[in-house]
Amino acid sequence: MADSGEPKPHLLLIPYPLQGHIIPAAHLAVKLAAAGFSITFVNTESVHHQTSLAHHQLPSSGDPFSGARDSGRLDIRYELVSDGLPVSFDRSVHHDEFMQHILHRLSSNVEALARRLLPISGLVADTFFVWPATLARSLAVPYVSFWTEPALVFSLYYHMDLLRLNGHFAAGDNRKDMITYVPGVPAIEPSDLTSYLQESDTSSVVHQIILKAFEEAHRADYILCNTVQELEPSTIAAMRKEKPFYAIGPIFPAGFTRSTVETSLWAESDCSHWLNSRPAASVLYISFGSYAHVEKGDLAEIAGGVAESKVSFLWVLRPDVVSSNDTDPLPEGFREETAGRGIVVPWCCQIEVLSHAAIGGFLTHCGWNSILESVWSGVPMICFPLLTDQFTNRKLVVGDWGMGIDLGGGKSQPAVRREEVAAKIDELMRGEDGRRAREGVSRVRGKLEAAVAGGGSSARNFERFVEDLKFCVL
Ligand code: UDP
Repeated sequence: MADSGEPKPHLLLIPYPLQGHIIPAAHLAVKLAAAGFSITFVNTESVHHQTSLAHHQLPSSGDPFSGARDSGRLDIRYELVSDGLPVSFDRSVHHDEFMQHILHRLSSNVEALARRLLPISGLVADTFFVWPATLARSLAVPYVSFWTEPALVFSLYYHMDLLRLNGHFAAGDNRKDMITYVPGVPAIEPSDLTSYLQESDTSSVVHQIILKAFEEAHRADYILCNTVQELEPSTIAAMRKEKPFYAIGPIFPAGFTRSTVETSLWAESDCSHWLNSRPAASVLYISFGSYAHVEKGDLAEIAGGVAESKVSFLWVLRPDVVSSNDTDPLPEGFREETAGRGIVVPWCCQIEVLSHAAIGGFLTHCGWNSILESVWSGVPMICFPLLTDQFTNRKLVVGDWGMGIDLGGGKSQPAVRREEVAAKIDELMRGEDGRRAREGVSRVRGKLEAAVAGGGSSARNFERFVEDLKFCVL
């Protein structure tokens, strides 16, 4: 957009301090800046420290937007806020304490920062925060709630009171009957709800966060969702009756290439050399995302299945993927048994890996970003959900859109057996179900591409949102 010299409306944009939220928020920042907003993007000091180190910079110098700003002359400022814990605090090991600070300590620090940065025209904040509507009201600006998961998951949380009323909230395994009363959601099994809606113990800090965050979401002025209208038409139509709800996904870096914004929390291993040596569609990519932990027993079964399948693989094993302090959580002998046909790395540039011609399948925990990236790359999935929205996302991938194979997963231990893992890998990479899933991905990919192309639904929804917000704030 040409710079008219007019003052631009200033939006404060605050991602949830977790990898799967920071990545789409950074790309939203670039989109909003390109649409004529002045953006202040706020990371926590801890996220800033970690990303700086991952990108081999000194934390004092790293501004993750410097590349994006230079290439597009975008008006994006970068600020930091403390989450109340020392930067060196291990947030993965002491997760509950981390979440307690997000729940109780972050808001006053954000408010102090917001008041220092006035004037502000609007607050764009992750839906999982427990304070944005309240803060936006006190600043007399609109609250734009940014939802990084499917509309279906938003709708289920938004209608938590209905689930409670009907006895499906926190019902554990006690309810097996279909849920048919959530507006816009034709029918959903209780086991497809997010883990936090299923669990009977609701005393966790994450439950407190979700309850409060959705009270705030009920007071949001606008909701932006990283999904596509054509994929979830009835859910989105029902949400639009409640709120100005805009499906603007998928929000990827321009051209789906390595992002010019430095968002990675871990250093990325370069896998391209190894992938280049592999035949087309022959490699299984395995990753459980940035947040969830895998039980050691499950990891052993999955490794056993991978070894038995004889498939080539690229496996991302985060250092903290198994909760215990294991230096190498893979079973003894695995590396020797699979030597020459697989590599294990701590972290990679996932979009680069998924879009490589050598990748033929993705064994995924079903994080929403991973699903969108897999579809965009034309890669079918084996679904092994672990936590939170991943169970609901699996229903969409396997049941609704026919893009993958279910590998079970659940509460009993081990959740999977190596024979089943091997058989499903074989099916995905070489079998009839895999062929069908590849067709399903290709169908859905067409919808994603059409949505973001000029005149497509996501492009139009984003334009409409920009007009609506500018009308409100100018
Ligand atoms: N990711 C990455 N490198 C990896 C693993 C994951 O860049 O080695 C990125 C991935 O591309 C995605 C994000 O981390 O954008 C993970 O988000 P997702 O919603 O899939 O899962 P979460 O981490 O939130 O559970």
